[in-house]
Amino acid sequence: MLTHKLALEKLNREFENKTQQEIVDWAAKEFAGRIAITSSFGPESGVLLHMLSRADKTVPVLFLETGYHFPETLAYRDKLAGLFGLKNVIDLRADSARKAEIVAKHEGVPYDRDPDLCCQINKVEPLDEAIKGYEAWMSGIRRHQTDYRKSIRFVEEYEGEIYKISPLANFTSRDAWWYLNEHNIPQHPLYERGYLSIGCWPCTRAAQPGDDERAGRWAGKTKTECGIHTFKEVKEKEEKDKEPPQHVADGI
Ligand code: SF4
Repeated sequence: MLTHKLALEKLNREFENKTQQEIVDWAAKEFAGRIAITSSFGPESGVLLHMLSRADKTVPVLFLETGYHFPETLAYRDKLAGLFGLKNVIDLRADSARKAEIVAKHEGVPYDRDPDLCCQINKVEPLDEAIKGYEAWMSGIRRHQTDYRKSIRFVEEYEGEIYKISPLANFTSRDAWWYLNEHNIPQHPLYERGYLSIGCWPCTRAAQPGDDERAGRWAGKTKTECGIHTFKEVKEKEEKDKEPPQHVADGI
């Protein structure tokens, strides 16, 4: 639940000229104790997690443990958490009864028979429940990744309930790889085997020549998003042209 209003238009204009680290620093300070970050611990996840570790290592890092991750992803999660000193990595899991029901109904392969419902139960619902306890949710999505993500802003208000913060909104894939190299951050072990974007193993394949960066996700299906970035509606821009509260103007 939101405890205060932000002047979103002004803030987003300012953030276009800030570094990603400055936005993460602002978010960690502005929402101290009331913010969580989600991470897939995929090939680019080290960027935002490294920035977070420089801002506040105690911010909860929510990981959707669907039970379908590659073992390499789970090992990479533990490796990055240790390397960055992240103190609060939390696994979110589906309601066991809901999960058992869909697995039985679809003979053990819900990801093949009904991937939208599989994502709903394993990702959307656990996340929706978890973020109720926070005022802000930060993630590493970028405008260049999918058509849906083209219009994301650095800070958005979702359904009047939570602020969604995307410090890497204007980052490119090239920027991300540069950052990882510059800071000697280890790469996800599957990256070297051609996996550019990594989610659950049943719905991820290595990239083929000419593929875009997310083509290996739900390959052969029209699905491009698991739903965690689309299940809440962005609230319309009511803050336009309003002066920000003083604490915002002072915040960055
Ligand atoms: S990505 Fe695939 S396996 Fe993972 S929750 Fe979604 S449909 Fe299920």
